[in-house]
Amino acid sequence: MKKINFTFVKTLKNKIMAFELPKLNYSYDSLEPHIDSKTMEIHHGKHHAGYTNNLNNAISGSELENHSIEEILKNLNMENSALRNNAGGFYNHNLFWNILSPSGGGKPSGNLLESINKSFESFENFKEEFSKAAATRFGSGWAWLCVHENGNLKVCSTANQDNPLMSGIGCDGFPILGIDVWEHAYYLNYQNRRPDYINAFFNLINWDQVNEIYISNL
Ligand code: MN
Repeated sequence: MKKINFTFVKTLKNKIMAFELPKLNYSYDSLEPHIDSKTMEIHHGKHHAGYTNNLNNAISGSELENHSIEEILKNLNMENSALRNNAGGFYNHNLFWNILSPSGGGKPSGNLLESINKSFESFENFKEEFSKAAATRFGSGWAWLCVHENGNLKVCSTANQDNPLMSGIGCDGFPILGIDVWEHAYYLNYQNRRPDYINAFFNLINWDQVNEIYISNL
């Protein structure tokens, strides 16, 4: 099992082990103007809370209550849509909040920058490939930057709340950066201008944190 350096909180509630909606370490309005406060409030407080509750309902009373979220994703029965959508939604948003910061933006450094340069030739090429994957994902989904063998990095995208840790979805590796391109992530502020939201996302990426996740999953 690969390590991650952010935690998925699980607590005993009503005698069952339940996943918890993570607390953000920044306020809803602190990502403005790139992501507006109302979007953050609904996205975290309603959407992510919904995935968390539905995940807990889906595993309630089953042996999965004792499993980690990574184990659940890796061993998922892909025909179990309640578990697939909500385990993915729970995990994906945990990563998403974790790699954003009011003081984010700029460029990566350290091992991550070296690997980006090796895998994509330059940061600009990576940004272009990642942005294209996010812009061209039809309908709802995510674009990802994932670690592969020897620390190589690849970009891919998934539909709905699928996650690269799930098998057989044509997008694999360990996700270290992800952008939510569901309309609920940007529509209040950007309407149909998804490319503008993708550009704005780059002003919020906490590259030190992405580098930490990268290093801990080599
Ligand atoms: Mn979302």
